[in-house]
Amino acid sequence: MSFYYSLLRLRQKSFLESIDLLYAHGKVNPPNTVVWDSTKKCNLDCIHCGSEGNYGGELSTEEIKSIIDQLSSFGVEHFQITGGEPTLRTDFIDISTYAGKRGLKTSFASNGYSIDEDKAKSISKADVSLIQISIDGTEGIHNSIRKNPESFERAINAINLLKKHTNAKITASTIVMPQNIKSLPELKSILKSLKISFWNIGTVMPVGKAKNNQSLFLSGEQFRYLLQFIIDSRKDIRVELGENYPYLLRYDASVRKSPKFCPVGILYCCIGTDGHVRGCPDQPDTSFYREGDLKTETFEDIWRARFQRYRTRQIIKEDEKCSSCDNKADCFGGCWVMRERDLHCIFDVL
Ligand code: SF4
Ligand code: SF4
Repeated sequence: MSFYYSLLRLRQKSFLESIDLLYAHGKVNPPNTVVWDSTKKCNLDCIHCGSEGNYGGELSTEEIKSIIDQLSSFGVEHFQITGGEPTLRTDFIDISTYAGKRGLKTSFASNGYSIDEDKAKSISKADVSLIQISIDGTEGIHNSIRKNPESFERAINAINLLKKHTNAKITASTIVMPQNIKSLPELKSILKSLKISFWNIGTVMPVGKAKNNQSLFLSGEQFRYLLQFIIDSRKDIRVELGENYPYLLRYDASVRKSPKFCPVGILYCCIGTDGHVRGCPDQPDTSFYREGDLKTETFEDIWRARFQRYRTRQIIKEDEKCSSCDNKADCFGGCWVMRERDLHCIFDVL
């Protein structure tokens, strides 16, 4: 590990220690980022979609605006809108604009399918700072994963239109699976030519449609190939690996620019479609993950009093393997979502 990376790890350690000290004195800072799972509606039917849970109705425009008011007053910085496909909400522009006006740095993730010239122009009027478009491979592979023959062309078109009409940073996101791993070098060239701000790469989470579909998960060899691909690609494009493997053992310092940890309950949480609050959008919206309900409680009350399992790092105390692991102070037991199928430990993956 480089000297610089060791310093970054020390900085992360002291940050987490200072947070622990705050908790010990009964103080809780607001989260830096709140994600809103805006809708479960989608115009595609992807093979790896993670949507799962007991969804009630969607929050109304007025309900989410009132929650945005709470987030803004509490001091939340970033508001990320996800789905389903958020642009299918008819009030999407209204809500994004409202969040921006209330001082939140607002971003959204989309499959790009419904973003034509008119929609790109209307998005330009909303105060959105970052837009992430999903691209899961070269044309044929993306269309087969997303089960739609036009989905690739429309996603690429969306990137171009958003770059033309908005001032937002445009990024691409790819979920890597055996079905698309070989297309990564060609996809990199495509994304490079589109001049995106950065490329976010993740792997499939064992939830929703993917939970019991073994064919979507990388083998150890494929995962090592992916890590090496990211290391080799750094010179060509800004590329980031998602945090469902927060700690990467010997690969950590070369794959990542800085160490990661699961931010749930410390810096981050998610508001579900019907107002239940949970840790992150990849966690199923089920009673196990729910921390509170914004229809009956305030955001600040939920944030201050709940999320204890994350703040006390309950997992590394309860999990026998983690409690005796030499890496627990860097890994913290891995990702909660990957635990849904016992895929969380990097030792098992590598
Ligand atoms: S045993 Fe637990 S703490 Fe250690 S690397 Fe695996 S998941 Fe992380
Ligand atoms: S639970 Fe997993 S996917 Fe969710 S924020 Fe934590 S590491 Fe990321």
